[in-house]
Amino acid sequence: MIIARRIRYGLTQEQLAERMGTSVPAISRLESGQHRPNVETLEKLGHAFGEQFVLELEYEKATDTLTVPPADIQPAAPVDENTSGRISFNQFMPYILGALGLALLVGGILYYSLSGRGSDRPRRRRRPREPREDASNSVYCPQCGARAKPGDHFCRVCGTRLTKKG
Ligand SMILES: [Zn+2]
Repeated sequence: MIIARRIRYGLTQEQLAERMGTSVPAISRLESGQHRPNVETLEKLGHAFGEQFVLELEYEKATDTLTVPPADIQPAAPVDENTSGRISFNQFMPYILGALGLALLVGGILYYSLSGRGSDRPRRRRRPREPREDASNSVYCPQCGARAKPGDHFCRVCGTRLTKKG
């Protein structure tokens, strides 16, 4: 591994030894595997190659038995919707819907008040209502606009034939 890396970086044993502040025989011992590098040496190697070594640690087990017995993680009660600690989307649905409704309500009020205040169009369009008249029954002359009485077929003002609405 060290050889491959040294060759990849185009370094001679001398150059690597110089970079690591060690001797050429030490490098060859490392490369042949006679000398197992300690962490400090690996760090120097990393600096020399301009990269970091990821140290993989191994350990050997004397026996296959676990020193700690496996913990019992079975739930005390079957997990369902009512289990405490369980968070479900359904629980928050009413709040989400409530917030949405509130937002729509506030938006509607804002829109209504803004549009009402912004112009007096609705007021201008509204006609003064004549007292005690059934609005659904009233007929207006299409020609002069005069209001005819219920049952009239012709305008009392201009004589135009009336067409009843509805
Ligand atoms: Zn008329």
